[in-house]
Amino acid sequence: MKTIIEPFKIKSVEPIFITTVEERVQIIKDAFYNPFLIPAEKVLIDLLTDSGTSAMSSSQWAGMMIGDESYAGSPSFFRFENTVKDLTNMPFIIPTHQGRAAEKILFSVLGAKGKMVVSNTLFDTTRANVEASGAIGVDLLCPEGKLPNVPSDFKGNLDIEAFKSLIDKNGADNIAICILTVTNNSGGGQPVSMQNIIDVKNICKLNGISFFLDACRFAENCYFIKLREKKYADSSVEQIAKEMFSYADGCTMSAKKDAFANMGGFLALHNEDLSNKCKNLLILTEGFTTYGGLSGRDLEAIAIGLKEVLQEDYLKYRINSIEYLTNKLIKENIPVMQPAGGHAVYLDAKQFLSHIPIEQFPGQVLVTALFIEGGIRAVEIGSLMFGKYDSMNQLIPAQMELVRLAIPRRVYTQSHIDYVAEVIIEVYKKRDALKGLVITSEQPVLRHFTAKLAPVS
Ligand SMILES: *Cc1c(COP(=O)(O)O)cnc(C)c1O
Repeated sequence: MKTIIEPFKIKSVEPIFITTVEERVQIIKDAFYNPFLIPAEKVLIDLLTDSGTSAMSSSQWAGMMIGDESYAGSPSFFRFENTVKDLTNMPFIIPTHQGRAAEKILFSVLGAKGKMVVSNTLFDTTRANVEASGAIGVDLLCPEGKLPNVPSDFKGNLDIEAFKSLIDKNGADNIAICILTVTNNSGGGQPVSMQNIIDVKNICKLNGISFFLDACRFAENCYFIKLREKKYADSSVEQIAKEMFSYADGCTMSAKKDAFANMGGFLALHNEDLSNKCKNLLILTEGFTTYGGLSGRDLEAIAIGLKEVLQEDYLKYRINSIEYLTNKLIKENIPVMQPAGGHAVYLDAKQFLSHIPIEQFPGQVLVTALFIEGGIRAVEIGSLMFGKYDSMNQLIPAQMELVRLAIPRRVYTQSHIDYVAEVIIEVYKKRDALKGLVITSEQPVLRHFTAKLAPVS
């Protein structure tokens, strides 16, 4: 088989500033061992997130010039609205400045206080918005999804039996909504099968529970369905996406992911009453209903990006490039989430740094080491991000200790990825010398963004 090439060529480039190991030791210290606090110009390969970091296409940039900045009724809004309507077949489309704004609005108006919000895995901002509304987030990930190094086709699936027993135990009235994250970002970018979506939908319908999608990576998820779910092998990704959305009562979306936009998001809904409540809050916090928190040019970029992401040459390259890096690491016996996810490579820090206790954040230690060794910026998805404290102030650890290397869309070439593999392999060889970290300062919500850490003494 021939090399799968990047299905684009480069028109405009951005410089990468090279630093030395000595400089990076100081940079990470100055950033309190938290990659979110490192100035971006001091990063060589930035794999912190695939959110808002995509390279836009020449068509999207052209669309930016066509963007109409009218306060009300901009033609850019209608192009955006039509595209989202066509994709989701939902009648009420509400633009927001990013995904979490859609979440904030949805969970504020749902009135789910004291009730449960069920998911395969709630993403960090989603969980925070659920909890801020007074609701209780419940993750019911399938058992195979919790085993990083055991490959399986749909490790993002929701555990159907667990969902049924949760309903039996608590009563459907106490479950406000079920929201499936496609692909499951916090659980390794693993896809959810169409069968699972249908099963979840049916349980929700039977019990009068609303069924939503967190659709940030819908196209990547649908491409996996095409590859792995026999029934869909001959369907186009667009057809698969339309079927997937047809099962949902609504969705939240961050356009910073699969819409290749640098900013943006939306809520799409079937229910008019809910939509009206959301629009009222939108006007209060985001902006008028035909722009949300966005410029007209952003709406154009999203509308164009939502079409581009369904191009299968792109998705083939995208999924293969993640697999390429994952396979290089597997070859070196490096503990990595298997199979490869849709947007990122996830290292299993619990195994990678098995000598570091969970209370000393092995994931964060690995993030720090990758930065020092090669200037790569990754993010911990483990007990720093999701850990809580019990009444004795002891850490309740997260389910997994992962380090996510998120690959921005259409940004890095194969040689960048080869370099990333070399750096990880080098850190793996030196892993025994790495030492733990402790938190020296933290905030009560989403602490990983701003926490300060220091090496254990
Ligand atoms: C990024 C993301 C969000 C939040 O979107 P923002 O645009 O960053 O606010 C929600 N859910 C998932 C699965 C995400 O990946």
